[in-house]
Amino acid sequence: MEKIESLSKRRGFIFQSSEIYGGFGSSYDYGPLGVELANNVKRQWWRSMVQMRLDIFGLDAAIIMHPKVWEASGHVESFSDPLVDCKQCKRRFRADHLLEASSAKPDLDGQREPPKNIADIVCPECGGELTEPRNFNLLMKTFVGAVEDETSTSYLRGETCQGIYVNYKNIIDSSRAKIPFGIAQIGKAFRNEITPGNFIFRTREFEQMEMQYFIHPREAEKWLKYWKEEREKWYKGLGLKDNFLRWREHGEQERAHYARAAWDIEFDSPFGGWKELSGVHDRGHWDLSRHEKFSGVDLKYLDPETKEKYTPQIIETSDGVGRAMLAFLINAYEEVAARSGDDHAKHEKEVVLRLDKRLAPIKVAILPLSKKTDLEAMARDIQKALAPDYMTQYDATASIGKRYRRQDEIGTPYCITVDFDSLVDKQVTVRDRDTMKQNRIAIGDIKAYLAEQYSNV
Ligand code: ATP
Repeated sequence: MEKIESLSKRRGFIFQSSEIYGGFGSSYDYGPLGVELANNVKRQWWRSMVQMRLDIFGLDAAIIMHPKVWEASGHVESFSDPLVDCKQCKRRFRADHLLEASSAKPDLDGQREPPKNIADIVCPECGGELTEPRNFNLLMKTFVGAVEDETSTSYLRGETCQGIYVNYKNIIDSSRAKIPFGIAQIGKAFRNEITPGNFIFRTREFEQMEMQYFIHPREAEKWLKYWKEEREKWYKGLGLKDNFLRWREHGEQERAHYARAAWDIEFDSPFGGWKELSGVHDRGHWDLSRHEKFSGVDLKYLDPETKEKYTPQIIETSDGVGRAMLAFLINAYEEVAARSGDDHAKHEKEVVLRLDKRLAPIKVAILPLSKKTDLEAMARDIQKALAPDYMTQYDATASIGKRYRRQDEIGTPYCITVDFDSLVDKQVTVRDRDTMKQNRIAIGDIKAYLAEQYSNV
């Protein structure tokens, strides 16, 4: 994990927020490469969830909504995690996480039963006694307007899906959506997490990619299965390895009270094993029923063919942009024996970030072999010609081996080298990150070559 964090900082993927002020607890900023990776993750999600589907509609709802939304959704009353304090060192923990961690690691000799409740657990940091768990609300409050009082209190959204529910009727009316159909949204969500951490895994401000699929209640099982399969395909299609992922069903206790079924895709993290990456939930008709009750607006669906009127049930897919980025980075990170270029002797290991081409922040790097004016001019022209279609990087400093390594480390799938022969034969060398195969290609054919490699991006 330290390697991922250090690479992220060194190469401009992810920085600690407000670093010059000593950093701000578990807030992160995405640098030039991080913002590209995040955009590519979002683009691929949008492409598969909206662009390629006739039954799913896109939305971008406001972050700050009517406060009643959060009363109706149940967040004001019960969007909380169980908080315990250590009486000795005063650190705070999530009781469910402590229980999870302790039962995941029973005594090796099998003599001791894992603790069944929080009273059997001590502080994992200092061994001190813990307080009784108490509920800690995760909603972040703010004030809207000039007056700071009860009447102006609002909330930063704790999940993006509420913006979808309150627009469900608008989408039906404006887009002639017919059940089954979905609404998809990408946007920021905020939670006052008790124990944020593990780099960008758990932050207080994060981005979600959520899709709510509205169905007839009798089809819930079918669509839950369908969306589980789709989400798994999406992650695996973008390169996550089979043994890096697993499914886990939420136990009855763990499930939100309204949820009829809840499944997580977990990934094999380097910070304590399997962790939630994504969720697929059957939320029943809780959300629409509650918004109907609190708003007084009829949110039932009238089937235009059967004339049946009912409250739709919802299957939700919920993913975090940051978590997905982290999983893609961890899965792609590989250290290989020295393999590139002209100065092998100076290093033993190289890092290759084997990101799927569609996710790679830089699609193609242009490297003139030397800083000779005519070589640089030719390389710059190539870069200029490719820039409208691809994120490019231009690098003319250091040995070619070192430059290849710089690109491998950030996952650039192709490097174009402009050498002295290029001036004569008008050809360049295109090097493949994974196979290291070098193809000699006419400058006039580069665009067609890259277009072939980068369809569906
Ligand atoms: P956890 O149990 O880890 O707190 P959750 O079950 O509350 O997560 P959901 O409400 O199902 O999470 O959120 C859906 C998705 O949003 C998660 O799978 C994750 O990808 C992302 N997510 C949730 N909370 C955070 C967070 N604090 N930081 C980053 N991503 C998050």
